[in-house]
Amino acid sequence: MAGSFDYDLFVIGGGSGGVRAGRVAAGLGRRVAIAEQDRFGGTCVIRGCVPKKLFVYASQFAEHFEDARGFGWWVDGARFDWPTLIANKDREIARLEGLYRKGLEANGAEIFASRAELVGPHEVRVAGRDRTVTAERILIATGGHPNRIEGLPGHELCITSNEAFHLERLPASLIIYGAGYIAVEFAGIFAGLGVPVTLVYRGDHILRGFDHDLSAILQTAMRRKGISIVLGRHFAEITATRDGGRHVLLDDGSAIAAEMVMLATGRLPNTDRLGLEQVGVATGHKGEIRVDRYSRSSVPHILAVGDVTDRLALTPVAIHEAMCVVETEFKDNPTPVDHELVATAVFSQPEIGTVGLPEHVAALEFETVDVYKASFRPMRHTLSGRDEQMMVKIVVDAASGRVLGVHIIGPDAGELAQAVAIAVKMGATKADFDRTMAVHPTAAEELVTMYEPSYRLVRGERVG
Ligand code: FAD
Ligand code: NDP
Repeated sequence: MAGSFDYDLFVIGGGSGGVRAGRVAAGLGRRVAIAEQDRFGGTCVIRGCVPKKLFVYASQFAEHFEDARGFGWWVDGARFDWPTLIANKDREIARLEGLYRKGLEANGAEIFASRAELVGPHEVRVAGRDRTVTAERILIATGGHPNRIEGLPGHELCITSNEAFHLERLPASLIIYGAGYIAVEFAGIFAGLGVPVTLVYRGDHILRGFDHDLSAILQTAMRRKGISIVLGRHFAEITATRDGGRHVLLDDGSAIAAEMVMLATGRLPNTDRLGLEQVGVATGHKGEIRVDRYSRSSVPHILAVGDVTDRLALTPVAIHEAMCVVETEFKDNPTPVDHELVATAVFSQPEIGTVGLPEHVAALEFETVDVYKASFRPMRHTLSGRDEQMMVKIVVDAASGRVLGVHIIGPDAGELAQAVAIAVKMGATKADFDRTMAVHPTAAEELVTMYEPSYRLVRGERVG
C-alpha cells in the first residue's frame, strides 16, 4: 500500500512536534517529507522558549549587579546594549535552526522550505511546486499564532511576542494585556531591562489556573519591582498618539498610555487554509484539530500534534505527542499520549516551577488534603538584602499520603520542578519525601524537611 504513495509520512510544520516526528520516522527508514513555511525549529526555537529564556537571563543582570554589593562587589558603570543582545540571540537561534535542519537531513527526510496544505485525503500541495505529492500518512504540526483579539479596536497598533524579539530598540514604556505565561514573563523581561511596565488583566489575580499562592507571591514581587498591575479591567480601544505612542482606553473609562502595547492574550491554532474541511478533518471552536489519544484526527491517517491540537501548549508535550505517533504508526506499538502530571515552569521573576494539582483543585477532588508550606528568604538574599521570598508547597492526599502537587516560586524553581516531577509522577508519598536525605544548604531541602502539615483541608474547609 505505502508503495503507491510518494511518502510514508508527510509532515506539515517544522517546529517542535513536526521535526521530532519527521526525524525519528525517517531514522526508522520511512520515506518522510517535511514542509516548513518559515524557519525550522518553529515557535519554541525561533520566537518562543529559547529566545525568551535568553532575554530573561539578560534582564536579570541589573539585579545581580545590585545584589553583588552585599557580597563586597561593586560593578560600576554597567550599561545595557539592546542591539548586542538581539544580534547574539539571533546568532544562537540561527545555530539551533541549522541543527534542526541537519537532524532531518542526516536521517534522510526530504525537506520542502514552503507552505503546504491538504488537497485530498492523501494529497498535499506544496507551494511553488507544479504537482501535488501523496503520502500514506499526514502529520499536521503547524502550531499556533498570537491571538490578536481581532474584534478589539486598534489591535493592529499592538505588538505580540513575535515582534518583541525583533524590536529595533527598547520601548520607553510598555503596556501588556493579559496575565498568562507570556504576559508575566515579558513583564519581567522588559522591567528588568529598565522599561516601565503596566500589566492589564481582566481577572482578579494573575496566572489563572495556577496555585493561588504562586500567583499571589508573584503578583506582590512584580509590584515590588515596579511593575504596575491593573486587575479587573478590559481594553476597550487602542489609538495612536501624535508622538507615535499608544493610548489605551479601558472598559471603566479610564485611560493609560505608553510607547508600546503588547497583546499577550493567548494563542490560536494555525489551521486556516490548510484544506481541513475539504478532506473532512474535524476542528473545534478555536479551529484546533480534534484528535484522539493517539493524535489521530477524524480522518485516521491524518494525525496532528502540538499546539495545533490545543491540548497542552508546551514544547516537551508536542515532542512527546510526536514520539507517541511514531511508536503507534511506525513501530506497531500503540502508545496513547500521557498528559498527566506535566511539570511546567513560568520564567517570571521570581521563577515558578510546578507539577500536579494546585491546592484549590486538590481541595475539590479529595476529601482531606494536607498542605505543607515553607516561605523563606533564599540564602543569597541574606547578604544581598533583597526583600524577596521563596515558597515551597506540597499538597498531599491525607488518606493515601500521595503527593498530589508541588509548587515552588523562587530562584531555579523550574529546575526544581523538573527533578521533583519524577517522584510525583512515580506516585511518591509524603513519607517517601520524608525519608529522603536533605541536600544542605539548598532551598530544595525544604521539600524533604517539612514534617508537620501547615494546615489541613477537609472537604475544602481549612481546619487547622
Ligand atoms: P510550532 O513550534 O509552532 O511549529 C509549527 C511550525 O509550523 C512553524 O514553524 C510554522 O512556521 C509551521 N507552519 C505552520 N503552517 C504551515 C504550513 N501550512 N506549511 C508549512 N509550515 C507551516 N513552551 C515551553 O515548554 N517552555 C517555554 O519556555 C515556552 N516559552 C514560550 C514562549 C513564547 C513567547 C511562546 C509563543 C511559546 C512558548 N512555549 C514554551 C510554547 C512552545 O513554543 C510551543 O508549545 C511549541 O513550540 C509547539 O510546538 P509545535 O510543533 O506544536 O508548533
Ligand atoms: P495563556 O493562556 O497563558 O494566557 C493568556 C492570557 O490572556 C490570560 O491571562 C487570559 O485571561 C488572557 N486572555 C485571553 N483571551 C483574552 C481576551 N479575549 N481578552 C482579554 N484577555 C484575554 O497564553 P499566553 O499567550 O501567555 O501563552 C500561550 C501558551 O504558550 C501558554 O498557555 C503556554 O502553554 C505556552 N507558553 C509556555 C511558556 C512556558 O512554558 N514557560 C511560556 C510562554 C508560553 P484568562 O486567564 O482570564 O483567560
